[in-house]
Formats: sequence, structure tokens, C-alpha cells
Amino acid sequence: MSEEKENKEKENKEDRKDVERFCALCRRSESQAGKLIEMPNHILVCSSCMQKGFDTVNRQMESEGFHLQDLFRNLENFPGIQLFDLGGFSPFAKAPEVKKKPEKDAETSVVDMKKVPAPHKIKQMLDEYVIGQERAKKAISVAVYNHYKRVSDQLEDDIEIEKSNMLMIGPTGSGKTYLVRTLSRLLDVPLAIADATSLTEAGYIGDDIESVCSKLLAAADNDLDRAEHGIIFIDEIDKLAKKKNTNQRDVSGEAVQQGLLKLLEGSEVEVPVGATSKNAMTPLVTMNTRNILFICGGAFPDIEIIIKERLNRQASIGFYADLKDKYDHDPHLMEKVSVEDLRKFGMIPEFLGRLPVIFTLSGLDEDMLTRILVEPRNAIIKQYKKLLAMDEVKLEFEEDALRAIAKKALEKETGARALRALLEDYMLDIMFEIPKDESIGKVVITREYIEGTGVPRIMLRDQQRISG
Ligand code: ADP
Repeated sequence: MSEEKENKEKENKEDRKDVERFCALCRRSESQAGKLIEMPNHILVCSSCMQKGFDTVNRQMESEGFHLQDLFRNLENFPGIQLFDLGGFSPFAKAPEVKKKPEKDAETSVVDMKKVPAPHKIKQMLDEYVIGQERAKKAISVAVYNHYKRVSDQLEDDIEIEKSNMLMIGPTGSGKTYLVRTLSRLLDVPLAIADATSLTEAGYIGDDIESVCSKLLAAADNDLDRAEHGIIFIDEIDKLAKKKNTNQRDVSGEAVQQGLLKLLEGSEVEVPVGATSKNAMTPLVTMNTRNILFICGGAFPDIEIIIKERLNRQASIGFYADLKDKYDHDPHLMEKVSVEDLRKFGMIPEFLGRLPVIFTLSGLDEDMLTRILVEPRNAIIKQYKKLLAMDEVKLEFEEDALRAIAKKALEKETGARALRALLEDYMLDIMFEIPKDESIGKVVITREYIEGTGVPRIMLRDQQRISG
């Protein structure tokens, strides 16, 4: 029964015109290799591999005194016998499906600018989720809008709009990943998040650079056209900085920056389907990265020192000579970052040249952390309130308690990421005890509870009714 189902599935796949098919031997797709020949067991082979196979067999046989023509003549007498038994290749029949690109003139292959919201609308949508980081939200909204404008540009003139790939600098937990994730969700484009530290030059242990594209293809459900208009976020880009004073080959730093150049600029790359590296078993598709928006993010630790040095150097000459410690306590120092500083940090100039939009996210302070607890659309506290509401229990936080949580999170120095862990900790007992007692109607989290000097205030349903 299940075999029957499998066969039916296979047949369906062959009938479908929108799915890419691959040669089982050279792994090229049908659009690259030309019409594929079907072998027993639903194995597909391209004509050049087939020819190579025949040539090899022929050569071998001739060297041993046989001729292929004789063999075919003899086989006609044994109709049950097949020349090749490729049963062992059956895994190829189960290779992931890749949706073909629509024909060039089809309207669907171009992003519809009418559907991409204007920058102020994008920012408004981001405001609902991301607290603070005003400049970053503005910069990203404009850059994304321009990017998709460029993608849909069909005017036949010689002005070509350059790609607006971005570099985002901000301390850990300041919302870099969150910003990109929110953006991709709001625009409904596929997003792949890759970690620069896992990438190495091709041939070394680690992920190939093309693996970021295969992640995007997977995020787009193997729809090549959708993937080619998606967003790739490469985190921890600062870890690719050129290593200082080393004579060894830098396979995970500078070499990866070099490798990323062609992706960032836009080129055709062979992308393994369903795997992070190319090997004999994975099929390949050709992906064009011209219309993919690349966003790189990193914390760039200690870059402030480089910025300060430069500013002090500039300020100490001539007319505008300033005090040397002028920038020591400047909270906006990071915003003054320049390409020169990044180069000094260890990024190569060609790489920076392909990231024309550079902006910074500020570290979160106590106020922002308090707001993050309650304001975003899916704020953590809203989530807990909803969970308890399902048990018909009201959850409240005193203003002081929120501040105390923010203060504790600040001490951990991992930005907003600490908030969730802290709250999990405080809420564990409450989430455990409340469902036990049906008479509880309301829980108020107090500052004393957060600071470990008291307990939450519990109100029973009857009390609530009296006081309400
Ligand atoms: P990073 O800058 O290290 O990439 P993340 O984006 O992963 O930080 O942030 C971790 C979490 O903190 C996010 O999932 C999000 O819930 C929260 N967060 C961080 N910054 C903000 C912000 N400005 N507004 C709302 N939530 C935020």
C-alpha cells in the first residue's frame, strides 16, 4: 500500500512542470544540463553523463575484446535483463524539490513596488515591535525601500541603482537580529540568518560561503524565485576581522570576507540544496544573488577606542584643538563610526565598499529595558498575562518591580536577552503554584519579590470582587 503511494507521488513529481529535476550523476539541474533521460527506478540522467557512461563501458569492453553492439544484440534475446541496475541510486529520487524560476517575462518574477510600503510605514510597523533604536529603524526602512525599488527597476536607461547592503553595529542583545527578523516578517520575504563564525573558505572544515544561500533557499521552501528576493543576515561579522600579526593562512577570517564579496555584489552561485556544503550526493541549483538584500551585523567590541583615537587626532590639530578627554564619556560615540575605523578594526576595504549603508544600534539602558518588558506587541509580560488569563487569573506588575527587573538585566550585560531568562526565573514558582488553587484571582508582582525580600501579592477571587 505504502509502495503504491510512493509510486504515485513519484509520478506526480514527474508530471509537475514547476519542480526542478536533477541529473543523478552530475547533479546539474535540467535547466542547466538539458533534457534528462529517465532510467528505471525514476532515476534521471543527463545526456552527457549518459554518453560518458556508454563511452566508459565501451572502452572497457573493447579493451577486453567485447563490443557494445554485440552486447545489445545479445540482450534482445533476454528482454527481462536491463543493462544497468541503478537500484542503489534510489536516494536521488528522494532529493528535495526545488521550484523552478518562472519565465523571465512573467510578471511574478519582479517585486511589486505597490506592495512594498513606504519607508515611514515600514518604520511605523517596526515601532510596534522594536523599542528605541530610532536612527537604526529609519536607516533600515529607507534602505529596504530603496532595495526593492532597485529590484523592480525596469527603466531602460543607463543609471543603475547600487545595492543597498547594510552593516549594523551594536552591542549584543540590542535587537539586531530582532530588527531583521521583524522586518522580514512584516514584508513577507524569506530570511536566512547565518553566523559568520561558522563560515570557512571552501574546502576547510566548517560551512562553505554558499551555505548562506542554501539556508535562504530552504527558508523560501525551495522556491528559487522567492529566495532570490529574500534577505540574508550574517551575524557576528566582526569575527571575520583580519587577524593581526599572523603568518598563518586565515581560512575563517579574511578569506571569508574575500569569499563573501561576490555574493554581496551579486553573482550566480551554485547552491547545494538541503545541505550546507557541496558533496557528491547533494543536487545543486544556480542562484543569482543580485536581488538578495544582505545585512551584516556585529558588536565590534572596542571599536570605540579606534573611533576615539581618530577623533582626538583630528581634534588636536589646528584651530579647533579640543581637550583630549572630550570623547571619553560621549554616549553617541558609536554613531560617529567611519569606514576608516572599520578598516582599522580589520575589515577589508573591498568588503566595506559593498556595504554602503552603515548604522549603529545603541546599548539598551534601564528605561529602554523597562519599556521592552511591556510595550512591544508581543512583549514578554503580555505573553505571561495571556498565559495566566487562560486560567482566569489576572497578572500585574508594579512599576517598581519592572524597574528592578530592568536593573538586574542591565547588570548581566547581555542586553534585552537577559530579560527573558530573569522573568522565566521569577515566574516559575507562580506558574507552578497558581493552577493548584482555584480561588486565586489576581497576582501582583512586587519590587520586594524581585529583590528577594518579599513575596508577590495574591488576591482571592472573592476579595477581588469586593475590592473591584
Ligand atoms: P542581537 O543584537 O544580539 O542580535 P537580539 O536581536 O537577538 O540581539 O535580541 C534579543 C532579544 O531581545 C530579542 O529577541 C528581542 O525580544 C529583545 N530585544 C532586543 N532589543 C529590543 C528592542 N529594541 N525592542 C524590543 N525587543 C528587543
